[in-house]
Amino acid sequence: MSFSLAIVGRPNVGKSTLFNRLVGRRLALVDDQPGVTRDLREGEAKLGDLRFTVIDTAGLEEATDESLQGRMRKLTERAVDMADICLFMIDARAGVLPADEVFADILRKRAKHVILAANKAEGQAGESGLLEAFSLGLGEPLRLSAEHGEGMPDLYAVLQPLAEEFDERAAAEAPEVDVELTEEEQELGEGEDIGGESREFTFDKPLQIAVVGRPNAGKSTLINKLLGEDRLLTGPEAGITRDSISVTMDWNGVPVRVFDTAGMRKKAKVQEKLEKLSVADGLRAVKFAEVVVVLLDVSIPFEQQDLRIADLAEREGRAVVVAVNKWDTETDKSNKAKELREEFARLLPQLRGAQLVTVSAVTGKNLDKLQEAILHAHAIWNRRVSTSRLNNWLGAMTEAHPPPAPGGRRIKLRYMTQVKARPPQFVVMCSHPDELNDSYKRYLVNGLREDFDMPGTPIRLFFRSQA
Ligand code: GDP
Ligand code: GDP
Repeated sequence: MSFSLAIVGRPNVGKSTLFNRLVGRRLALVDDQPGVTRDLREGEAKLGDLRFTVIDTAGLEEATDESLQGRMRKLTERAVDMADICLFMIDARAGVLPADEVFADILRKRAKHVILAANKAEGQAGESGLLEAFSLGLGEPLRLSAEHGEGMPDLYAVLQPLAEEFDERAAAEAPEVDVELTEEEQELGEGEDIGGESREFTFDKPLQIAVVGRPNAGKSTLINKLLGEDRLLTGPEAGITRDSISVTMDWNGVPVRVFDTAGMRKKAKVQEKLEKLSVADGLRAVKFAEVVVVLLDVSIPFEQQDLRIADLAEREGRAVVVAVNKWDTETDKSNKAKELREEFARLLPQLRGAQLVTVSAVTGKNLDKLQEAILHAHAIWNRRVSTSRLNNWLGAMTEAHPPPAPGGRRIKLRYMTQVKARPPQFVVMCSHPDELNDSYKRYLVNGLREDFDMPGTPIRLFFRSQA
């Protein structure tokens, strides 16, 4: 159990609905535990590969009279003190009410980490409430629809780095625990990411994954294995490609949609002809994906075609995970793993830090690791760094290594902010941006990657003129 999350907010915003969604049937009522009020419910939550304790404060239905409001306040304070992270929920349809301000005040004073969530935001109805939510001074609100399960990939993306932080802290406090790094977690190669376009996705869509790779790499076998029994074929999708098929699945509460580029089609008998897909199909899939899984065949890894599509995914600003399939057929696994990592670093330096996972689509081996790698890649891709942290960082970076001074006139980096996530995009306001050389840009990009823990995701760093 890596951390605890308290869901707080005024009655009727949807706290219990979210609690139930996270906990499912794994509910542990804490009524009869000494010292814990019967108004707090606790459960074991699952979200993707995250496991945590969730605390619900929804015990008091209507805080109408004075004493009830007081109890509500006490209850919230207790939950806030108990929990590592607080999810403060407002109703996006109702907007920010005076009662919300009371909770915001408690949280600003007491909570260690606050995630602001605007619930009931399905459809368009929550738009104005979302904007109002900024006024609470608790950062950007997360759009949620607890009832419809929308926004769960974003919730995961916010929680995942915090979970890692808590895990690291727990490991540091208990030095006897051995933290074992997998081979795939090691950094791979050197690189730089500059230029490219990104696309904002809407929160109500599942996490979009494309599995790409050469014919016979095992794409359809992989997707079918991931689907298991719960297969749910969804038809040709408007706006994608007439032949493209996606399947939607649920990875412990995180809805994901996998685009297949050819394989499933034959299994689904949507089309009898066993045609093999063109590279163009793969390219289209990349455009619609958030995370691209490049599936390689261990007997012929890193073919020209694989390299092209991996590079394209990076240039398009997608999160990339490399999976090496048919690992069951490999006899010399440890040497091969080493060789693959070296090749990866050499041939795809632009994907520095991206995960490489060995899998077998036939046996199902390591598919859990692949799912985890996909969720992590997506979380990193979604990461937002606050402006104050960025500017502290920029100050330290320029002090450690001042920008160049072409013609004796030092370039001044004044201010920095993250303008977008998915992938992370930053703008630095500076004097004479045209004169800033690539090696200094690389220094900053690599520093961002290291210091804010964003391996394997394209990072865009732009420089704007401000004298
Ligand atoms: P709590 O008092 O904060 O625990 O709120 P509940 O979870 O009991 O939800 C209050 C009401 O809001 C219920 O009628 C829910 O069905 C409804 N609700 C919860 N989440 C959503 C949502 O995402 N969208 C909409 N439209 N209604 C929701
Ligand atoms: P696609 O063209 O990429 O969709 O590839 P398929 O899923 O159709 O697989 C091509 C061939 O590789 C089939 O004969 C599969 O049975 C085989 N295959 C797929 N995954 C594995 C694996 O993990 N191990 C082994 N040994 N064979 C596999």
